[in-house]
Amino acid sequence: MTARRLDGTAWAARLRAELEPRVERFTDLHGRPPGLAVVLAGSNPASEIYVRNKIATVAQHGCRGELFRLPGTASVDEALALVERLNQDDDFDGILVQSPLPEGMGEDAEQRVFDAVDPAKDVDGFHPVNVGRLVQKRPALVACTPLGCAELLDREGIPLRGKHAVVIGRSDIVGKPMALLLLHRDATVTICHSRTVDLPAVCRTADVLVAAIGRPGFVTADFVKPGATVIDVGINRLADEAEVQRLFPEGSAKRRQFAEKGSVLIGDVHPDVEAVAGALTPVPGGVGPLTIAMVLRNTVTAAELRARAPI
Ligand code: NDP
Repeated sequence: MTARRLDGTAWAARLRAELEPRVERFTDLHGRPPGLAVVLAGSNPASEIYVRNKIATVAQHGCRGELFRLPGTASVDEALALVERLNQDDDFDGILVQSPLPEGMGEDAEQRVFDAVDPAKDVDGFHPVNVGRLVQKRPALVACTPLGCAELLDREGIPLRGKHAVVIGRSDIVGKPMALLLLHRDATVTICHSRTVDLPAVCRTADVLVAAIGRPGFVTADFVKPGATVIDVGINRLADEAEVQRLFPEGSAKRRQFAEKGSVLIGDVHPDVEAVAGALTPVPGGVGPLTIAMVLRNTVTAAELRARAPI
């Protein structure tokens, strides 16, 4: 069996295009486009790329996207003051604080800064109010990555009702909200983590398996029930030649990419899974583009909700 490829890039393009009439309607009604403010503290190279993509995407689809930079030496109080200013600025409907914040801000900085974002503008869906609403299955701004995965499963017509879904990873930004979205689609859900006993055996019972771990190629073929749907959330950059050789056969596209660029992207799912799974998201081109599309959707949704019930 060779798994059907779940094309996140193509679905993301469709989802983004579907939002354009909503952006136009909002702009006509309110005399301004939906606005997203992105806060970037420091200059983490990966964060620079993510932030650029998010702003370019919202701008491409008629929204306003603006970057607010803080120096890597900024204090948590400076970050909080900026968030407060953006909370008060009516031209911004969404605020996104790029993680990770610089270490110098302190251990609890992310929680403090995320908590300071007005829940009505929380396009990342990280605020406890929005997490609580998600738990209660009430309309909410939901974390973009799991929301994109759920949208993909819906659009691809992957059955979830009564099916067993296993999520590997219990982070607040991916694993937990993913499990809730699957639960709300009537799946029977198991959440696994680093203390789960006999992880491959648990995963082999999954009809739908979501891997959100952060370990390259961790989910091997023996984790996967033949025909299962596998969603690979992980994004790992591999620059170690021996690792690349261990994971990818000679003559493969990834080996060629590595020879050209000196590194390759790989998910949490091992390439061998393709021979066992029924459907699989590629990395790159799977969950990543859907996450960005959901940033746009949450910005538009936040704008519409704020306009209906001004704060
Ligand atoms: P975290 O590091 O916050 O969470 C990782 C989870 O994996 C934890 O719950 C951890 O368990 C679990 N885990 C780690 N090792 C094992 C193991 N050996 N066996 C079982 N479980 C294990 O990561 P995130 O949730 O933030 O991200 C996960 C991955 O998704 C990363 O690769 C990240 O880059 C990617 N990502 C991709 C996005 C996209 O747009 N495609 C967006 C966001 C993230 P425990 O809790 O016990 O420590």
